[in-house]
Amino acid sequence: MEAETITSKIFEDVIHRNPGESDFHQAVKEVLETLDPVLKKHPEYVDYKIIERICEPERQVIFRVPWQDDQGKIHVNRGFRVGFNSLLGPYKGGLRFHPSVYLGTIKFLAFEQVFKNAITGMPIGGGKGGSDFDPKGRSENEIMRFCQSFITELYPYIGGNIDVPAGDIGVGAREIGYLFGQYKRITHSYESGVLTGKNPKWGGSLARKEATGYGCVFFADEMLKVRGKALEGKNCLVSGSGNVAIYAMEKLTALGARVIACSDSNGVIYHPQGIQLDTVKEIKEVKRQRIHLYTHEYKEAQYIEGGNIWDIPCDIALPCATQNELDENSARKLVANGCIAVSEGANMPTTPGGVKVFHEAEIAYGPGKAANAGGVATSALEMQQNASRDSWSFDTVEQRLHSIMRNIHQECFETAAEYGYSNNYVVGANILGFRRVAEAMLAFGII
Ligand code: NDP
Repeated sequence: MEAETITSKIFEDVIHRNPGESDFHQAVKEVLETLDPVLKKHPEYVDYKIIERICEPERQVIFRVPWQDDQGKIHVNRGFRVGFNSLLGPYKGGLRFHPSVYLGTIKFLAFEQVFKNAITGMPIGGGKGGSDFDPKGRSENEIMRFCQSFITELYPYIGGNIDVPAGDIGVGAREIGYLFGQYKRITHSYESGVLTGKNPKWGGSLARKEATGYGCVFFADEMLKVRGKALEGKNCLVSGSGNVAIYAMEKLTALGARVIACSDSNGVIYHPQGIQLDTVKEIKEVKRQRIHLYTHEYKEAQYIEGGNIWDIPCDIALPCATQNELDENSARKLVANGCIAVSEGANMPTTPGGVKVFHEAEIAYGPGKAANAGGVATSALEMQQNASRDSWSFDTVEQRLHSIMRNIHQECFETAAEYGYSNNYVVGANILGFRRVAEAMLAFGII
């Protein structure tokens, strides 16, 4: 059978076996579409059903999370943890708390994570978890009770050599603290390496909080260098105003670029003179409020309720909010307005139509799988520090992150060229990650 026919047939099976999980289908399709040249070169992957096995999660845990709000009212949420592939190391990937979460979200994220983690070259497999719990507007005590209930159900399935969750949307150092505290309490054991994204005061890594955003900017910088360009003086859009967005903005500014807009799910802040990050941090990290408050301090900045950040002309765009936030029309707008590079801090933020537009326009496009891998890579550095009961300086971790991102860029770039798709980082990232996992699968036998 031709390689194209094989991947199409596998994709049909994936849809059939995972009905209604459109995000997962999208993530699988995007990978399978790029694997034909690999199958032509390595027919053994077909014989050993590597793709079929890679598309089926090793295990999925779904559980009830009951909790009480401050008024004593009982709520019931659903928790998930998908261990997708543990060929290269323990499952590794974040937890997402957002009302939109369902099994398909977690499976798409876990599937992406398998390839992303392999690309980092570090000994980590791929997994993801979360809940449809909505943390917005919840008190500190409610967040704590929810986290305690969540981990009380999940704890038997995780461990430093088994599965190591971290943060994602709605889960930061505060939530990781509550999850870790309850895990420690239940297990009577101080197992630092069971969760990453901890506060550096109790086992977290310095620069982990910054890592995904910084890494995404380092990746953009590398893509520009290949094209003889630089970040300095460029106008940038960064969607979102959460963990990834904030530290992407910080590194862009440090490298001489100007961030002119950011957003949250309600609207966009446009500040042509440059977003003032201290204010964003105060609103989002300290007060945990909405981004529109930014204009209270900067009257010249504009708040566009329900606006589309990608309508604003820019040189560089960093989608750092959520999946499918940048569609084909927005991609066309960006290209028409002169955007030269897109580096994805979020997971799968650009729709397939949008990706096509970027490739056709031949602008530099770094998919999340490669461009946001700095977060999980630094989580792996946190695991290393925990294992040796050591803690490294901020500069040491940042330098390692920078060198990891340079390597990721270089290897994706070279892999794409090797398979005849020069400058296509989607092909480069997918094939690089796939081959690393596939080789381990061949070596480990039919498991
Ligand atoms: P946060 O919860 O810290 O921030 C998320 C940001 O995105 C907020 O500004 C939020 O706005 C916005 N957002 C979330 N959902 C939506 C939506 N449906 N529509 C519009 N805006 C939305 O999450 P992170 O910064 O950690 O994660 C952002 C992205 O980066 C996600 O795709 C995540 O998977 C990815 N990622 C994160 C890593 C990490 O280390 N944290 C690592 C690798 C990837 P609002 O407050 O209004 O909801």
